[in-house]
Amino acid sequence: MTRIDGHTILIGLMAYPIRHSMSPTMHNTAFEALNLNYAYLAFDIDGHQLADGVKAIRTLDMRGSNVSMPNKQAIIPHLDKLDISAKMTGAVNTVVNDDGVLTGYTTDGVGFVNDLKKKGHDVAGKKMLIVGAGGAGIPIAAQSAIEGASDIRIANRKDGHLKKAEEIADSINENSGAVASTFTLEDGEAFKAALAWADIYVDATGVGMKPLEGKALVNDPSWLKEDLVIYDTVYAPRTTKLMEVAKKAGVKNVYNGLGMMVEQGAAAFKLWTGQEMPIDLVEQAMAEKDKEK
Ligand code: NAD
Repeated sequence: MTRIDGHTILIGLMAYPIRHSMSPTMHNTAFEALNLNYAYLAFDIDGHQLADGVKAIRTLDMRGSNVSMPNKQAIIPHLDKLDISAKMTGAVNTVVNDDGVLTGYTTDGVGFVNDLKKKGHDVAGKKMLIVGAGGAGIPIAAQSAIEGASDIRIANRKDGHLKKAEEIADSINENSGAVASTFTLEDGEAFKAALAWADIYVDATGVGMKPLEGKALVNDPSWLKEDLVIYDTVYAPRTTKLMEVAKKAGVKNVYNGLGMMVEQGAAAFKLWTGQEMPIDLVEQAMAEKDKEK
């Protein structure tokens, strides 16, 4: 870290617990590679400390911060402005400080859309089925609508997130040209029909990662058509049960959530620095860090 000097600009990550995060590796690798005089540090900040944390962004003249649980919604009243991604999702994962004016963004959805684009799939004009309306599913639904998806069906099981699925569907119908609707996952026939209808299927439930590793919401390969694009937001493990079922069904385009994770960071990086993140280098550094664990 010899590049740190009196001019170094600080960017934070405020969440709790957060020490396991890959984001410091991601951003500091990119700053170093591009010779940018920034440093990215993680801070254990819970709900009680959040107001002071935001004050620190202003006092220390930080360029901004990432925000994760439990602060993604709670930070909103402390900010000056919200980008449309944050307005539609009611959540913020990136704060940008422009001369004391703090703007909140959500880059998870951008990360998803950009990763799919890199893999050769544009959401514009597509019919999408998204299962799960939490921290991943909501921004994916919102950004897909912003980027021109034609129809979005959002499914959730009957738990506390069902209301969130309905709220984001309403917001999409009000704020974008996409048509959004919801159904409950307990309605197996509706789920099967939606899989047959969709161009892109996103599993944003976390089923397939610990403690539900080895499990999937779709276990019968005959439910999946070969030309469906399947995106599982899980990235640990790299191959989930859903991805295995999809391979058995002969589905060609099947992806985990690693690219989305990197691209949401790249989108935040661009907001802070105006520069493109050197993604290949960053992925290499993350893989090396992974091996150390
Ligand atoms: P969350 O707790 O906010 O939401 C989980 C959603 O899944 C809810 O809608 C819930 O109703 C549903 N759900 C949970 N268990 C279920 C089950 N057994 N059956 C059916 N539905 C179920 O979580 P989140 O933050 O949205 O994370 C979801 C997954 O997405 C996790 O695996 C997480 O690691 C991943 N994620 C990936 C990225 C990325 O960049 N790739 C970003 C955020 C989250």
